[in-house]
Amino acid sequence: MNTELAPYVGAVAVVSAAAITWAARVAPLVARPTEPEPASFTEPEPGTRWLRCDTTTCGHLTRPHVPQPDGTWVCTVCADSKGEPQ
Ligand SMILES: [Zn+2]
Repeated sequence: MNTELAPYVGAVAVVSAAAITWAARVAPLVARPTEPEPASFTEPEPGTRWLRCDTTTCGHLTRPHVPQPDGTWVCTVCADSKGEPQ
């Protein structure tokens, strides 16, 4: 390589590296965030009650329970029955 051009080649390399790192820093600011998917809602079955479920599957969380003909309530997550049959 021509030794007289070495400082210029070095300067170009430094400026190029600075431009690349600047572009990398600015790119996330310019990029638009993607639109989040709208949440989907489902209607609960008529008569559904939110009751605490004490099974290990549900871990005492409040889960939807659907009424049964015998008067009990069945958890829609773990199918555990709640209440006294009538
Ligand atoms: Zn449950």
